[in-house]
Amino acid sequence: MSETPQFPTGSVLGYPRIGPRRELKKAVEAFWAGRSTADEVEATAAALRRRTRERLVELGLPKDTAAIPSAFSFYDQVLDATAVVGAIPARFADLVGADGTLDLAAYSTVARGRGDDLPLEMTKWFDTNYHYLVPEIGPETTFSYVGTRPVAEFVEALADGVLTRPVIVGPVTYLALAKATEGAPADFAPIDRLHDLLPVYADLLRDLAAAGATWVQLDEPALVSESIDVPVERLLAATADAYRVLATELARPQRPALFVAAPYGDLGAALPVLAGTDVEAIGLDLVTGAAPTEAVPGLESKTLVAGVVDGHNIWRADLDAKLQVLEQLEVIGAGAVAVGTSTSLFHVPHDTADEPNLDPTLRSWLAFADQKVAEVVTLAEGLSEGREAIHEQLLEASDAVASRRSAPGVVRPEVRERTGGLSDDAFARGSFDERKEAQAQRLNLPPLPTTTIGSFPQTPEIRKARAAHGKGELTDEQYVEEMKAEIRRVVELQERIGLDVLVHGEPERNDMVQYFAENLDGFAVTENGWVQSYGSRCTRPSILWGDVSRPKPITVDWTTYTQSLTSKPVKGMLTGPVTILAWSFVRDDQPLRETANQVALALRDEITDLEAAGIAVIQVDEPALRELLPLRAADHADYLDWSVRSFRLATSGVRPDTQIHTHLCYSEFGQIMGAIDGLDADVTSIEAARSKMEIVEDIAAAGYPRAVGPGVYDIHSPRVPSVEEITELLTGAVKAIALDQLWVNPDCGLKTRRYEETTPSLEHMLVATQAVRATL
Ligand code: GLN
Ligand code: ZN
Repeated sequence: MSETPQFPTGSVLGYPRIGPRRELKKAVEAFWAGRSTADEVEATAAALRRRTRERLVELGLPKDTAAIPSAFSFYDQVLDATAVVGAIPARFADLVGADGTLDLAAYSTVARGRGDDLPLEMTKWFDTNYHYLVPEIGPETTFSYVGTRPVAEFVEALADGVLTRPVIVGPVTYLALAKATEGAPADFAPIDRLHDLLPVYADLLRDLAAAGATWVQLDEPALVSESIDVPVERLLAATADAYRVLATELARPQRPALFVAAPYGDLGAALPVLAGTDVEAIGLDLVTGAAPTEAVPGLESKTLVAGVVDGHNIWRADLDAKLQVLEQLEVIGAGAVAVGTSTSLFHVPHDTADEPNLDPTLRSWLAFADQKVAEVVTLAEGLSEGREAIHEQLLEASDAVASRRSAPGVVRPEVRERTGGLSDDAFARGSFDERKEAQAQRLNLPPLPTTTIGSFPQTPEIRKARAAHGKGELTDEQYVEEMKAEIRRVVELQERIGLDVLVHGEPERNDMVQYFAENLDGFAVTENGWVQSYGSRCTRPSILWGDVSRPKPITVDWTTYTQSLTSKPVKGMLTGPVTILAWSFVRDDQPLRETANQVALALRDEITDLEAAGIAVIQVDEPALRELLPLRAADHADYLDWSVRSFRLATSGVRPDTQIHTHLCYSEFGQIMGAIDGLDADVTSIEAARSKMEIVEDIAAAGYPRAVGPGVYDIHSPRVPSVEEITELLTGAVKAIALDQLWVNPDCGLKTRRYEETTPSLEHMLVATQAVRATL
């Protein structure tokens, strides 16, 4: 046994990969479009990696202690692991090189699909808005160590004089997140293959050791989650097995020292299991999870990497409070304590300095990735040299915290009085039967009413007008005229096709959350605050920093203008409180419940105004309701309570004859049936086409009483559905549930599609609906 190298006193679990100006996105998309070569993209990526290393050194992470993570990815870290272990699905077998590797074009094809070969499925990464590519593992999948990128990137950094710490998804998480290949026996689970996978990880570790790596980071977030398919006992056993093979049987110096990181939650029962293995360091998320309060057997020989700096939100840390947490960790009896982030920093933007137009006071409260690295460095110094050494920084951080606490707008008595004085009535509408009757009379819709989810294609002209307006090249009046012209086109199209409940098409919205953030008090938006959502896609979350209220109506003019063009009912279109929270950076100084209720009251005012203006149907989208569901089952009830209540608070101020719709972007109706029922919406549209509307069965089985619009076609694909296939789906649905419960609509909004696909698809939907109506 060789001596364990010391873990760096401070480190971060990962860093943004996309580049401060989305350089990687642009390079990769140019490559996909055939505008650049693989070599050019590789060169951009290498330059970006070098810049990241240099920046991290500048910010105070040492060059030679493995403090700097090597955690680059062209698309997704789980796909990268798939490439390392060679688990490429059979349909892409022809893309694999003679040596088993994927070149950049092949790697991109596995991520994006080609023709009839569907890409790997994409799913949300724990409780974040990042999406990973799901490995497909079957009894026959072969594993071999073929992907040498982690080693190549380590060597590249070393040649620059930087000793990095390679980061890879750990073997337990890799299999826990995988799905079984189609045709695998029903009792097969990917985790069954652990012992075939481990030798490949062992090969990789040997190779990294030979290249000179001192530490490797294996990310095992599956260990904090109860929301994955593997039973907890199985997961714990797999953990013990995996690290017996990788840490004990593969002894040092054949491998680097192992740092197992567990971001996004509390390790719970997995901590003693990991502590009982021979890994050299364990990382805890001490922002979402709690620190153990007594000694953990086994930890005395390991480094505890305390993730006290929040990797998932953007608020500057209260360094004094964090230092106290670090000092109190002594009771756990770890061999050493190092300072870390709770998660990788790729969930936050690069640098607050890139936001010169943000209010300077607000900016002084924020820490993006670069500021967080500096916080880690400071805390590490405080922990090893004592408080005095970082006296100045502690004071500065305390000042920022105090400024935030007392700044105007953060706590507004008039907002607090409203949320504090809510009675139970504010969360409840009258009986559904009564509403149903009143709405039927007012709306007078045919059986199987048809509608869309809200947005129509965002054409290049719309984007151009928005950009020109942003730059001041179009006046407000000119911009409004352009949007109204678009609304007229969209209304005419819907009338010609024969839809029953029309929408305005959302041309004025850049994004369904940012649009509302720009129009509500308590929010700010960034210019360069991009974070990766999946692959090359990025979003720019808004910052919810203060008490929320609505200075003036937001959608009322657009909606009433639309209604003035048609005698059909026009559906008002709002984003719900839970989704606004889920897709923003939300203040961390009060319970989410309070923040959600503030947003809900602002929306409630908007809904009241829409109703007063004569709008009879109002949709409040909650596509993120499922996304924020906590990873631990014990936390579900509280979440579902506040999230459902905030939706009800937003929507229950209306008359019985005003119809409330909601839209959910996933098909797991059965899983959160209770919550969907709790929303008490009159009509719920939900994704269903990819599962051939199987959810209609769930709805029937559950005896769900209100109306539903299971999507009849998949808008995520450019494919135009045929009249026959929609007719067949509808015929089946009409047999399964009551006629007056069923609406007809696509799976989701149409903004990412083109008119070439949208128009014939909607036409087919209408022809099919009429055919089924004729049989009634
Ligand atoms: N109303 C939104 C739209 O149609 C809903 C989008 C969503 O569910 N993500 O675009
Ligand atoms: Zn949707």
